[in-house]
Amino acid sequence: MPAETYDMVVVGGGTAGCFAAATAAGEGLDVALLERKTEDEGGRIACGDAIKGTSTFPDVIDLDYLREESFTNEGITLARFENPKTDENLDIGFRGGNGAIVDRKRYGEVLLEEAERAGTDIHYETVVQDVVQNGAVKGVTATQRGSVKEFEADVLIDAAGSLSLLQDKTDFDGTTFDTNVNYQQFCSAYREIVEVDEPVDWHNAIVFKPTAELGYLWYFPRTPTEINVGLGFQMNKDPMKLVEHLRKDLQNREEFKNATVKDKLGAALPTRRPYDSAVAPGYMAVGDAAGHVNPCTGGGIPGAAKAGTWAAEAAIEGISDGDVSEGALWEYNRRVQTDFGKRFAAMDL
Ligand SMILES: Cc1cc2nc3c(=O)[nH]c(=O)nc-3n(C[C@H](O)[C@H](O)[C@H](O)COP(=O)(O)OP(=O)(O)OC[C@H]3O[C@@H](n4cnc5c(N)ncnc54)[C@H](O)[C@@H]3O)c2cc1C
Repeated sequence: MPAETYDMVVVGGGTAGCFAAATAAGEGLDVALLERKTEDEGGRIACGDAIKGTSTFPDVIDLDYLREESFTNEGITLARFENPKTDENLDIGFRGGNGAIVDRKRYGEVLLEEAERAGTDIHYETVVQDVVQNGAVKGVTATQRGSVKEFEADVLIDAAGSLSLLQDKTDFDGTTFDTNVNYQQFCSAYREIVEVDEPVDWHNAIVFKPTAELGYLWYFPRTPTEINVGLGFQMNKDPMKLVEHLRKDLQNREEFKNATVKDKLGAALPTRRPYDSAVAPGYMAVGDAAGHVNPCTGGGIPGAAKAGTWAAEAAIEGISDGDVSEGALWEYNRRVQTDFGKRFAAMDL
């Protein structure tokens, strides 16, 4: 079967992939976004759903629509740190605006809608299996509802999230793409969406409680009665029984008596410095696929959005100049490293 040909192929329909696709399609490029999930499952991602008040998003999608549809609690004014040894709390008020908790599924759906509205061809149930390469990356092969398909493009955007399969398949020899990545630089995390009977009295707070395994439990109120609860541990520590640990903690909290669990999901997230370089000829990695997560908090949504947009902007220029070499795409690395990249790298230390 002949390959489907695009200017840009984006693998992964999360925050990074949708912002990349919306940016490039909005500028008139032919863009395909390949997502392994079904359309119904699109946007469902394991997350704490919290966004800092000072976070900004690139203006390449309808941000008002995103906010109206998915920001369910915009009244977060403080972070509360519980001390498990003394039962005392430390409250730290936010400077520079309220934080928010989102309905993560609806947020993800809106991003996919916006990428499509900008002109992206979204291919659901399309699981990328391999990278097509000949000196530079030329495309991918994928299975789509039982058939093998090939997608060709000038630039491939790897937005496939943590531990991206594409990076195992790509030969980065002769490039400076950061391949110094191992599983100990990741955090294993799990969350539940829990409905409680009575409004919690801390619905203006994101609540954290440290665990022994270099991680924390969190309680983030999507609404006064719908709470995102979860926890994670750094994978250079002994494995932690996440579900059991969470269950025990919830049982000891009065406000979660009679609570019902509405959704459960787990995932890995990078908690290392951002990749030194996330470009190779015809290839750019964005979001979790390039370590664009705050290594202390695990917050990765705003970084993924910015990285997706900046990568697409560098790719648009490269494609229009007929040069998608590592050097031509390098501006993307510079933008990441001179923005959140240097901050996250310092935090990683
Ligand atoms: C439990 C947990 C809690 C978190 N809490 C927060 C928080 O409160 N605030 C915050 O800012 N960040 C949080 N993060 C981090 C944040 O969720 C990520 O940094 C962000 O989602 C990264 O977006 P992304 O687009 O890079 O990757 P993802 O959102 O992971 O998207 C990757 C997409 O690629 C698809 N995909 C993967 N492989 C393939 C393939 N082979 N073929 C086709 N498609 C593929 C996946 O299905 C997925 O849709 C949390 C992460 C976890 C795991």
